[in-house]
Amino acid sequence: MIDTAEGYGRGNSEIQLGKTLKELGVDRKKLVIVTKTHNRDPKTWRERLQASLQRMQIDYVDLYYMHGLGDAGDSDPGVHNSEAVREAVADLKNRGMMKHFGFSSHCGSPDFMHDLCAKAAEGGHVEVCMLKYNFRDYQNEKFSADLDVLTKAGIGVVAMKTQGGASAAPDRVKPFISEDFNQYQAAVRWALADQRISTVCSAMRNVDQVKENAAAAKSPMMSRSELQSLYMYALATHGDFCQLCDECTKVCPAHVAIPSIMRYQMYAENYAMPEVGFEHYLALESTQRANACVGGTCDLCEAACPYDVRIRSRLKRAREVFA
Ligand code: SF4
Ligand code: SF4
Repeated sequence: MIDTAEGYGRGNSEIQLGKTLKELGVDRKKLVIVTKTHNRDPKTWRERLQASLQRMQIDYVDLYYMHGLGDAGDSDPGVHNSEAVREAVADLKNRGMMKHFGFSSHCGSPDFMHDLCAKAAEGGHVEVCMLKYNFRDYQNEKFSADLDVLTKAGIGVVAMKTQGGASAAPDRVKPFISEDFNQYQAAVRWALADQRISTVCSAMRNVDQVKENAAAAKSPMMSRSELQSLYMYALATHGDFCQLCDECTKVCPAHVAIPSIMRYQMYAENYAMPEVGFEHYLALESTQRANACVGGTCDLCEAACPYDVRIRSRLKRAREVFA
């Protein structure tokens, strides 16, 4: 499965994918190709998907996602379920431009995610969803119940952000890693061991990382001691990783897009993809960026954060990274 989006590299990701497939002479039918649109107006999708297909030099995608539901500005968890979406999905399928429809969401707000999943399960036309899910969710009973609802409705679940920010503190990871698998493999295996997860979407930047993931996928079941190590690591580092739960934005008087900024900072620093982080950050309204934080004695966001994330110092760092 190859996952891209019209927005990645402003279309360049799709262009490079198309060129690579042509150069390698890969049999298109053997691939599952996924792309996404962030656009919320289904009337534009035919034109947008056509442009994506042209960039990738293919006739259809296997899966088309409505991208990033719950991102800054989204408030309706039923947005994937409107009559306009149904019509657009039927139209694009009839034209042979896509095989399956779904959505992706980075959102960690338990209530929003619950409603998103419930409406997907009752809607009948969402076939796959890609959601943030990693070993830090091991006690997240509410989300686990949401996964049950999706699975019962026959909706495939793709796990993303499976690393849980694991690379943010490599020194702190060492004591928790088993001899057979490194920390990245342990995180992938944890997600794949869950029978409700169809597959994981994992950024791989070189052949070594592809081999690592392939080895992890062949042996997803983890021993009790490996699981214990991973959970101890999750506990020891939980304040390093933003769970995107949105609690801080509810109280921020300046309406800073804190979880989005954390995510873009993670792309730039932990995933070593500064261009991706920078591009997303620039797409935020200037009033949502880290500079909008009023600073001073305000600490409302940190007081509201259930995961003890040091938000103010992370925002300070974001200002430096994205200056
Ligand atoms: S410290 Fe900044 S980001 Fe946090 S609540 Fe206050 S204004 Fe918002
Ligand atoms: S910083 Fe804390 S409160 Fe804000 S989204 Fe992340 S985990 Fe939630």
